[in-house]
Amino acid sequence: MLSFHALVPLDLAVFHPAGLRELSRDDRYANFNMASMLSQKIMAWIQLTVLLVLLIRQCAARATLKETKRKYITANHILDRHDIVDAFGHVSIRNPEDKTTFIMAKGMASALISNDSDLAYYHIADASPVRPQDSGRERVEKFIHSELLKRFSGINCCVHAHTVAVIPFATSKIPFLPVYHMVGYLGDNVPLWDITQLYDSTDIQDNLVTQQKFGASLAEAFGGNGTFPQSVFVLMKQHGFTTCAATIEDAVYQAVYAKEAALAVMSQAMLQHAYYSPDTASNGGIEALGPKQVEDTRDLPTRFRQTPWELWTKQVEVDSLYTNNIF
Ligand SMILES: [Zn+2]
Repeated sequence: MLSFHALVPLDLAVFHPAGLRELSRDDRYANFNMASMLSQKIMAWIQLTVLLVLLIRQCAARATLKETKRKYITANHILDRHDIVDAFGHVSIRNPEDKTTFIMAKGMASALISNDSDLAYYHIADASPVRPQDSGRERVEKFIHSELLKRFSGINCCVHAHTVAVIPFATSKIPFLPVYHMVGYLGDNVPLWDITQLYDSTDIQDNLVTQQKFGASLAEAFGGNGTFPQSVFVLMKQHGFTTCAATIEDAVYQAVYAKEAALAVMSQAMLQHAYYSPDTASNGGIEALGPKQVEDTRDLPTRFRQTPWELWTKQVEVDSLYTNNIF
C-alpha cells in the first residue's frame, strides 16, 4: 500500500509515521518509484474503463439502430396489411445514430421491404443520399420527410399515404372529424394542404411532393416551428395525407386509425342521410368529440401504443407475405 509520504517531493525532510524516523534518500526514491508505477497502473485502468464505456455505448447505439430498422420494416408491413399503403406510400425514421440524417426504404412497395439493403440514408438538410449505395431508385416524395424532420426536432417518424378511405376528405370540404376517442389526435380542425397554390409555370403539376419547396410548405401546414407541430395529421388535397410522431409506433397508430376514423365518419354520414335529410349546418348531423374531449384524447397513440403494436406486429410476423431479416 502506498504510504502518505510517497508523493512528497524528495528535497523535503520526511518522517516515517510509525517511528518518526527520517526516511533515507533511498527510501524516498523507492517510494517515489512505487508511486510512479501505481500512477501508471491507475491511468491504465482509467483508460481501460473509458474504452469499455465507449465500447458499451457504441454497442448500445448499434443495437438501437438495429432495433429501429427492424421496427421500421415491421411498420411498413403493418401499414400494408391495414391497407394504409399499397405499392405507394412511405415511411421515414430519423437515424438514432445521427439525427441529421433519416432512413427510408428505397422505391419499393412497403410489403416487400425486408433487408438492410432495402433501406437508404438521406441528409435531412436537402434529402440528398448519404452513401453511394443510397442513390438511385429513390422515393420522389422524400422531401415530405426531410422537411418535416427538419422543421420539428421532436418528430422522429413520418408516414405518407394515399389511403382511399381518407381521400374523400382531401377532395371535398367535408370536415374530417374526430368522431371517437381513438382519434382525438386529429384535433378539431385537420389542416388541408393544397400544393396547387405553389405551382409556377415550369412545375409539373402531378400533385407529388418532388421538390424541397413543396415539402417545406407541407411541413408549415402542420403548424408551429420547433419541437412538435400543432397538428400531427395533415390532409393533402387530391392526394392523401401525412402524419408524424415522436415514435414509429405512434405514427403507425395515427395512420391506421385515420383510416378507421374516415370509415366511421362516412358510415355516420350515410346513416344520417338514410334516416334524415342532410343538415350541412351541423356537419351533416355528425357529432364529433367536444373540444375538451379532443384535448384529453390527443395523446392516446402515446398512452396506448403498445397494445395495437403488439397485435399488428404478430399479424405481419405470421403472414408469409412479409419478411423481416433484421435481427
Ligand atoms: Zn404521395
